[in-house]
Amino acid sequence: MTGEAPADRGPDARSTDIPSGRGVPRWLGAMLKFCARCGVELQFGAVAGEDRERLVCPGCGFIAYVNPRLVVTTLPVTDDGRLILLRRGIEPGRGWWAQPGGFLEVDETVAEAAVRETREETGLLVEPGEIVGLYSRLEAAVVVIAFEARVVGGTFRPNPEALEIGAFPPEAIPWSGIAFKTTYWAIRDWLRRVRPDLPAQRWREGQPG
Ligand SMILES: [Zn+2]
Repeated sequence: MTGEAPADRGPDARSTDIPSGRGVPRWLGAMLKFCARCGVELQFGAVAGEDRERLVCPGCGFIAYVNPRLVVTTLPVTDDGRLILLRRGIEPGRGWWAQPGGFLEVDETVAEAAVRETREETGLLVEPGEIVGLYSRLEAAVVVIAFEARVVGGTFRPNPEALEIGAFPPEAIPWSGIAFKTTYWAIRDWLRRVRPDLPAQRWREGQPG
């Protein structure tokens, strides 16, 4: 690829250009202070048998592994080919456009989460289709999956997470109002499939990110 930003899509797309291999994000480590087994304060450091430093309990040896969580999102598409986006009602990115989505629960499948989150935030019933992309956000310790999804029913009702929804033709995506790079990437990857003739849009600094 030429002329693309450093934070652009790679084989394992990432939404930022922060380096890999920096360990547990500080904000996340701050939430993991004590051993879940015995209550002793965790320490970050070398552990026998581990190939990287870990949060480990000096009392009982418990290792607190920290792994990213999965955020399941959809790009709902109407029968006439318009993309549904919501204007976010909560921070981060309040007032900016994003796709519906949220954290995968431990007792549901990825497709179930896609349907549930879309319904909660947009009131729309969707059938998830192909995976548009999978994006790493190292700074947030999440992986975002984006499904293309067919809108099969439902109606929008305002809710705390969405001020309104909009249905945008591929030629009229509100690029300068997109909240997150993961949204930008998912839309771009979707457009590459459905409308490869449209010119690529660039991420503009100043959007929430
Ligand atoms: Zn312990």
